This record gives sequence, C-alpha cells and structure tokens, in this order.
Amino acid sequence: MERYDLAIIGSGPAGISAALNAQIRGKSFLLFGRKALSEKVLKSERISNYPGIPETSGEQLVQQFQSQMEKMQIAVTEETITSIYNMEDYFSLLADNNKIYEAKTVILATGMDNAAPISGEAELLGRGVSYCATCDGNLYRGKTIAVVCNSVPLEQEVNFLAGLAAKVYYLPLMKGSRVAGENVEFLKSGVREIRGEKRVESIVLADGTELPVDGIFFIKNAVPPAVLMNGLQMQDGHVNVDRQMCTNLKGVFAAGDCTGRPYQIAKAVGEGNVAAHAVVTYLDHQGV
Ligand SMILES: Cc1cc2nc3c(=O)[nH]c(=O)nc-3n(C[C@H](O)[C@H](O)[C@H](O)COP(=O)(O)OP(=O)(O)OC[C@H]3O[C@@H](n4cnc5c(N)ncnc54)[C@H](O)[C@@H]3O)c2cc1C
Repeated sequence: MERYDLAIIGSGPAGISAALNAQIRGKSFLLFGRKALSEKVLKSERISNYPGIPETSGEQLVQQFQSQMEKMQIAVTEETITSIYNMEDYFSLLADNNKIYEAKTVILATGMDNAAPISGEAELLGRGVSYCATCDGNLYRGKTIAVVCNSVPLEQEVNFLAGLAAKVYYLPLMKGSRVAGENVEFLKSGVREIRGEKRVESIVLADGTELPVDGIFFIKNAVPPAVLMNGLQMQDGHVNVDRQMCTNLKGVFAAGDCTGRPYQIAKAVGEGNVAAHAVVTYLDHQGV
C-alpha cells in the first residue's frame, strides 16, 4: 500500500491552502473532502474581508479555488475519513467506504461542526454510535436504529441503512430530504441524549420522548477531530495547537476553524500554509 507523506482531512480554505503548499514543496498527499470544497464558503453571500479580492461571493471564491487546484493538478478524494489510527511512525486512515490509507503525517482541517455533541455520543462511540454506514451497517441487519443526516447527497447512505435495518427513525438536519421507505419514520424533534450502559439502548428526543434503539448513525460530511483521533488534546471544543500548528500528537497538525476563533477564511488559509510548512520541516527532520 502506498504510504503518502501527508493526509489532509478537509477541503475547505485551510485544507486547500495546505494542499497548494504541499504540492509546491513536492510532497505526496491526499486531500479528503468534497468536490464542492466547503459548504460554509459556498453559503457566504458576500465576502469582503479577503485581501486582494475586494468583493466576491462564496460561490465565486469556490470556483476560483477549484480552477487554481486544477491548474496545480490537485484532486479531492471525495471520501469522509471516519477514524485515524496512530501507528507510531505513520497513520492509518479509515474512510467511510471502508478504504484504508496510510500517511506519515496528518493535517486536520475539518472545520467546525456547528452542532454541539449529544450527551452519550462520545461515551458510546463504537458501542452503538457510528459515523460510518458502510463500516457498521451490517451489524444492524433486522434491528432498530436512529439515523441523523445533514446533507441530501449523503442520503444514499441512509437508504443503504434503511435496506438493512428493520426500522429506521430518521432525523434529517436539512431541508429537501429524499429518503423514503415503509420502515422509515421521519422525526421532527432532535436527539437530546443517547442512553445505554454497555451499549446504546435508547435515544431521548428534544421533546422528552424516549425511543428504544439498537444503534444510532451520524451521517455527516464532517467528523469532529476528537472523534477522529484518540488522545488529541482539545480546549473549549477546539484542537490545541502551537504556533507551528502542531497538536500534542507527533506528526499531527491542525488548521482552520477547528483550531479556534475567529472563524474566518483568511485565518484558515494562513494556518493551512503554516501547517504545510511544519509538515515539510517535520518530514525533513525524520529524514523521509
Ligand atoms: C454564512 C457564512 C458566511 C461567512 N462569511 C465569511 C466572510 O465573509 N469572511 C470570512 O473570512 N469567513 C466567513 N465565513 C467563515 C468561513 O467560511 C470559515 O471560517 C472557513 O470556511 C473555515 O475554513 P476551514 O477550512 O477551516 O473549514 P470548512 O470551510 O468548514 O471546511 C472543512 C471541510 O472539511 C470537510 N471535512 C470535515 N471532516 C471531514 C472528514 N472527516 N473527512 C473528509 N472531509 C471532512 C467538510 O465537509 C468541509 O468540506 C462564513 C461562514 C458562513 C457559514
């Protein structure tokens, strides 16, 4: 299996900036995310605080990012990374389609998921809480599950789960859902709590209703860094980094909104640049 110099998790301004610099410095890397790059940037109606571009829309900026990446021959690997395992001298990355990748270093550029973690989500991860339909779906054949999803294009994963489970409580976080099925029950109320002793036993909705379930899936286009990597030091919901964007884990760097406020494109781009340079220095010191 090819071992890349770098894996960049996230295709927003921070990840793109890291990728441009890694490409210029001749490092082999994969950039994981979406072809549309960043939903946050796309949603920005007007951007007027980015130097050199007096005024633009998020959509125009994404188009400019895409054309610059095309010229620099940088492609996005359209997969969501669900877990990163520290193998001491390299990292093993698991994607949502069950593919495994290896990289010597990692830059976390995941952005910030605005949804606060639900009580029980982190505690029961891997014991009924899952972020990956392909990896864990088969465990719930004929069972009752809840599914939370934040993106219409990702609903194919929800349909896949509905094809396996006996019953699905579906909680879409966006408009325009296209999921249908006799065993799918749409719920309007959000999940307030996930309960269970050894593994997930039930969910409690915002209106207080408790529903027995065997598991709950979060099908989202982003996975929070603390869930991705064991042992990552966080502070106030952000990845703890120094001025070189190094985290507490050797070979792991972070950039952009996930490292803290202000949540701004210029900050994300600057940090992605610093992180890529720190990766180059790190690899040079390792002699690789
Ligand atoms: C409505 C709105 C208006 C805004 N206006 C402005 C403005 O005018 N000026 C300004 O400077 N900023 C503005 N911002 C903020 C700006 O968009 C963010 O600061 C910026 O996008 C952060 O970049 P990022 O790269 O850190 O993260 P993001 O842009 O959030 O990108 C992260 C990417 O990583 C992907 N990802 C996450 N986890 C994984 C994973 N596990 N595997 C694969 N991919 C993953 C996500 O899907 C996403 O595509 C605005 C934001 C919003 C929502």
